[in-house]
This record gives sequence, C-alpha cells and structure tokens, in this order.
Amino acid sequence: MQTDLKIHLSGILDEDIKHVSSVHGGDISTAYKIETATNAYFLKTNQASSALNMFEIEANGLNLIGYTNTIKTPKVLVCDSFENHAFLLMEFIESKSPSAKDFEHLGQQLARLHQCTSENFGLGTDNFIGSLPQSNTQHSNWCDFYIHERLRPQLKLAHQKHLLDSAEIPSVQKMNNSLSPLFKNIKPALLHGDLWSGNYLISKDGTPYVIDPAVYFGHNEVDIAMSKLFGGFGESFYQSYAEIIPFSNETSARIDIYQLYYLLVHLNLFGNSYRNSVKTILDKYF
Ligand code: ADP
Repeated sequence: MQTDLKIHLSGILDEDIKHVSSVHGGDISTAYKIETATNAYFLKTNQASSALNMFEIEANGLNLIGYTNTIKTPKVLVCDSFENHAFLLMEFIESKSPSAKDFEHLGQQLARLHQCTSENFGLGTDNFIGSLPQSNTQHSNWCDFYIHERLRPQLKLAHQKHLLDSAEIPSVQKMNNSLSPLFKNIKPALLHGDLWSGNYLISKDGTPYVIDPAVYFGHNEVDIAMSKLFGGFGESFYQSYAEIIPFSNETSARIDIYQLYYLLVHLNLFGNSYRNSVKTILDKYF
C-alpha cells in the first residue's frame, strides 16, 4: 500500500499502523488487513473513477442491514477518497469455517432480516450486483419488479453482448404468464441480495456476519436461491431458516427462476460458460 495512504489512515484512526497485509478473494478491489497495537481493520481501495460511489453504496447496504439488528455486518468506519484512491474502511472480522451450529444461527438471523418489510419491492436507491448496475425502481407487484428490474435488464445486456439471440429472449407477456402463478402472496422482505458463500463470515466466537450486499426489498427466497447456486450452505442453515419462514410447494420452481437472474449476471460478467445453465432455465419456464 502507498505510504501516503497509510499515513492518512493512521491519522484518521489516530493510531499507529503496525502491520498491513493483503487480503485475497475479492475480484473488484484491492483489500488489506490493517493492524494497530489494539485493533484490526479491513480496507478496500480502488482507483476507478466510479469506485467512491460503489463504496458508498456498499457502506449504505451494510449499514441498512446492520441497523435492523437481525444479522451483523462489519461496522463501517470511513468511506472516502484520498489522492486517486477511493477507500472503504471497516471493522476486520477474524473468521473461521462454519460449524453446523454457526449455520443454524446464520439461517435464523437471515430469516429475521427477511422479516423486515416495506410497502414496495425495490429500494429508494439503485446499487450493484457484482460490478453491474442493479435497478431498484420500486413496484407494488413482485412479478412486475422481477421482470422489469431484474430479468429484462440482464437479458437485454446479454443480447447487446451477443451472448443471447433475440429469439432466445422471452417476451414480457410470456414471462408474465409463466411467473404470475408462481408469485402469489409475496411480501417485500429486506434481502442481502448477493448471498453466496463468499459473502458471509463466521467470526472466531461464532457470530455470523454478512458482507458485500446488494440490498433491496424482494422475495425472501431470492437469498435462498443464491445460497444454493454454487453448492449450498450447511443443512442446518435451511432447517433453522424454515422454522421461522417456511418454504412452500412453489419454492423449488421459484429457486430456479431466482437463480436465472444470478446466472444471467454471471453470463454477462464472465461469458459463455454460463450460457447452458441460463438456457436450461429459460427453456424450462418460458
Ligand atoms: P471485492 O468487493 O473486491 O469482491 P470482498 O468484499 O469480496 O472484495 O472482499 C475480499 C476478501 O476479503 C474476501 O475474501 C472476504 O472474505 C474478505 N473480507 C471482506 N470483508 C471483510 C471484513 N470486514 N473482515 C475480514 N475479511 C473481510
């Protein structure tokens, strides 16, 4: 890390920085663990012109979830820029691999987060899914929200990137006909929005934290769908979750439909290796 930034951070923290080490695993920014005599901090930096806006949105998402007192998020300390670097400084969570009990707590706490509701689907502000923009324009109807703010923008982008032909993209009418019967009695729930296994941490004392959210009010099963996309979380996570918010006969079809969004995002970000998975769901439901 540049010396100037280190001095700047030390001034903000009002502590001497004793040690800085790189943290790997992120694909968007450069991350560091910063240690002082008594504390550890997590720092993300990014030189892109849009980075400060991205970090502010990330910080707002973390705070929004944190304020619910349902599931923890690392405490955000500073989001700012210094010289040509945007940076986001937060509490460092010393983590361990999850036990069945930890998964049980994660499931309970996620269900509590999902019990936070709102009048509409969406959010007052847009955010990002990975590095792609995610529109949170509000709708009172989940089917309209999911088609117009989730599936359509990603389908359009896939078409622009020549990853899907026009003939492979279902019409709004077709999507509406297939999805309306599956989307009955859905209430807005506060979602993490990008809940894959890289976006939770279990602290050394067994407290679950979520990071890197793409928050909005949506159907609770969207987070469950993402958690299952790449192998799934421990069984006790789903059991404890379902004791608070039960699944239904339509859940399995809805999980396919919600995974379609994330698969389209992967198709648009990482290319053709996700095409078959996208096509399988498009062909099955539309
Ligand atoms: P990016 O936004 O670049 O994808 P991430 O937020 O995914 O970066 O973070 C990169 C790595 O840092 C991940 O391995 C993640 O587990 C870890 N990490 C993220 N936030 C914290 C934190 N507050 N404390 C400790 N480790 C963290």
